[in-house]
Amino acid sequence: MASPKMDTAADPAQGASPASPAGTVAAEPGRPLILIVDDSPESIRLLSGLILDKGDVLFATSGEAGLNLARQRRPDLILLDVEMPDLSGYEVCRRLKDDPDTRDIAVMIVTSHHSSAHEVQALESGAIDFLTKPLAPAVVRARVQTQLTLKSQADALHRQAMLDGLTGLYNRAYFHEHLELEWRRHQRQQVPLGFALLDVDHFKAFNDQYGHVAGDACLRRVAEALKASTRRPAEFVVRYGGEEFAIVMPNTPREEIGRFGEWICRQVQDLAIPHEGSSAAPVVTISAGLAVLVPTPDRTWSDLIERADRALYRAKQEGRNRAMVAD
Ligand code: GH3
Ligand code: MG
Ligand code: MG
Ligand code: MG
Repeated sequence: MASPKMDTAADPAQGASPASPAGTVAAEPGRPLILIVDDSPESIRLLSGLILDKGDVLFATSGEAGLNLARQRRPDLILLDVEMPDLSGYEVCRRLKDDPDTRDIAVMIVTSHHSSAHEVQALESGAIDFLTKPLAPAVVRARVQTQLTLKSQADALHRQAMLDGLTGLYNRAYFHEHLELEWRRHQRQQVPLGFALLDVDHFKAFNDQYGHVAGDACLRRVAEALKASTRRPAEFVVRYGGEEFAIVMPNTPREEIGRFGEWICRQVQDLAIPHEGSSAAPVVTISAGLAVLVPTPDRTWSDLIERADRALYRAKQEGRNRAMVAD
């Protein structure tokens, strides 16, 4: 029997970036996290000794423990032994690839079989590369480095695809994906999901008077103020459209959301960006429409957006530079 200690992190949270929730944009690049799954402590010792300088190393001594650790910690790379008593490495790899939470983790199969049939089996199970025992140190290090480099490039591309070019906020593609996830999570937990739709007041007039370049700079400053105004890590700010922004606020009760709306309007007003052509104030302001719903099966997240949109319309009608909460 392996000692239980072997199934936990070798170096718990030592500089490792926290695992991001399923499907979120990968965290900013930090030290890579590598998981070794092997039933032989001796093999783990050998392999981890070769790659310790390449990242933080976790290990598990059975297929099941490896799957659990992969789900919890979402490593960048898994080095997976084929010959294990509970589950074969091929089976572990298939299960990793079937699970949306672990599908994107790169897996390298480690095997003592050298035949091309085994190579094919490794690749067919979803592995990206394989290493053969006895391990050649230089080969292991080079191939692990190649996979870590590819993984960090893929993460950077994914992050880029989810961000708005002008403001650096999340874009609409990210927004739709994540509002859906948050909606389902809030439905499971039966807690209120808050949403704010924000629109810059008289922004067409701003562009007309100060020019498009100044308009872009203004949108960037508003975006920064909005981002700085979100306090909890799970909240996220999105550039929803041209001069429209959205904020998703997990687990936010109705009593709080009105206050938040007023506060966020004040944060933008306090930027004190002159806007002579506005009827709302001599400076750039926003209007906010807010809504809160505890998700139920007869509703979808688009109900949340529609409600916020109607509240935003009322905020505009009633003079702008104000927040309205949907009934
Ligand atoms: P309201 O208070 O009713 O929202 O008035 P508004 O003028 O802000 O609304 P409208 O929808 O008529 O105009 C939005 C303007 O936002 C028009 C468009 O030129 C400008 N806009 C949208 N995206 C950008 C952008 O990326 N950069 C700049 N500079 N302007 C943009
Ligand atoms: Mg083995
Ligand atoms: Mg608008
Ligand atoms: Mg506007």
